[in-house]
Amino acid sequence: MQYISTRGRAPALPFDEVLLSGLARDGGLYVPAVWPLFSRDDIRAMKGLSYAEVALRVMQPFVGTTVPADALRGMVEEAYGGFGHSCVAPLKQMAPNLWLMELFHGPTLAFKDYAMQVLGRLFDHVLSARGERVTIVGATSGDTGAAAIEACRDRDNIDCFILFPKGRVSPMQQRQMTTVDAPNVHAIAVEGTFDDCQDLVKAAFNDAGFRDAYGLSAVNSINWARIMPQIAYYFWAAVNLGAPERAVSFAVPTGNFGNVYAGYAALQMGLPVERLVVASNANDILARFFASGTMEMRGVVPTLSPSMDIQVSSNFERLLFDLFDRNGAEVEATLTAFRKDGRFAVGDNQLGRATALFQAGRIDDDEAVATIRRVRDETGELLDPHTATGIGVVERTRALRDPAVPVVTLATAHPAKFAAAIERAVGAPAALPERMADLMDRPERMPVIPNDLAALQAYVKDHAVARGAAA
Ligand SMILES: *Cc1c(COP(=O)(O)O)cnc(C)c1O
Repeated sequence: MQYISTRGRAPALPFDEVLLSGLARDGGLYVPAVWPLFSRDDIRAMKGLSYAEVALRVMQPFVGTTVPADALRGMVEEAYGGFGHSCVAPLKQMAPNLWLMELFHGPTLAFKDYAMQVLGRLFDHVLSARGERVTIVGATSGDTGAAAIEACRDRDNIDCFILFPKGRVSPMQQRQMTTVDAPNVHAIAVEGTFDDCQDLVKAAFNDAGFRDAYGLSAVNSINWARIMPQIAYYFWAAVNLGAPERAVSFAVPTGNFGNVYAGYAALQMGLPVERLVVASNANDILARFFASGTMEMRGVVPTLSPSMDIQVSSNFERLLFDLFDRNGAEVEATLTAFRKDGRFAVGDNQLGRATALFQAGRIDDDEAVATIRRVRDETGELLDPHTATGIGVVERTRALRDPAVPVVTLATAHPAKFAAAIERAVGAPAALPERMADLMDRPERMPVIPNDLAALQAYVKDHAVARGAAA
């Protein structure tokens, strides 16, 4: 399997190169040159299999021969074997033909673990085979950093440094990063804001001498290997609900468009996906696009669902590539104009094709809180505010869909992660799962550095054990 860039000017690469490079050299995102196709018989044969087995079958054609089949199997079984529910991604019925898929049974209680746990192992495997090492440096406002730290802990060929704004992440998010006891991962509190953290990371990557000396690398959501493992749970849900004989729709709380794009990939691979419902909070650039055909940047407003507080959705570029019939030059021109003007529009043809599959909507914080309260009263289930956004948009767009087709809403985080929103909705926070009940009592390791590149570089230099071992 070869991968091509959405901007058409970077070389096609095999999976292992795409894994390590993340972004393409022309600034584009890598996508498979052709989609692997699963026949109805292939899909039918997934009925009754374990989650890990389904995931393996879905990922195998993307990885091809770049990783030996038994090694891939070992990594996938180990990754999901550590999850807190034997189904890995259990389905729960909420109402007739309305289902919830719980994607919060990984180590950091959000769906990002489903990809990151595989990604960390793949990175380590490929690096070890090449005798190489990397230093991952990233900034986080919460969920991604915790998932990255858990995925990188104790990996032989990776050092991981995650910057977060001191005193500006929730106590739970901070603890998820600072209580991990492994010598190669570091959660660093920066005296500054999230933007300061991001600027520090950018400055570190722009220092070519430093970047090359430490083999700096990133694990953000534009990496194809973050998308690939997420395709598996679309297959898992659909097969459990009757595919290939029955089509299924999905509703996805969306920020960077990565998770919902994995659903689009599943459809391209032959899964009968009827509709993909894109759910936004007040930061509704995507909902406005699907309503008008115009993508227009606005400022970000903070909400109760912070992992969806984005200005632009970076993975949307992958869909745009297909809407432009894989014409990279057109993607590049469109996105260059977008950066300059803050807006672009697609034609009726493209918009029509997009809305034949995607539906979109937004709800604000008050509606999310009301949804959490109502669903708790009707079913006893507690939704986190991102998932509540998904359910709220499903209800708002119900009249647009065939009622005979089941809708699966992706539950992207555990309600205990967002205590303030849950407390506002139902008067008390949600309890942590038992295996993490002592999180707030575990000892923390939290170095603090000033908002200063030299301080970050000195910290990395002193603590990069993988590099130290190599030297
Ligand atoms: C990251 C995240 C999202 C948004 O996912 P995208 O792939 O960026 O669309 C939604 N909910 C939660 C809880 C998240 O952590």
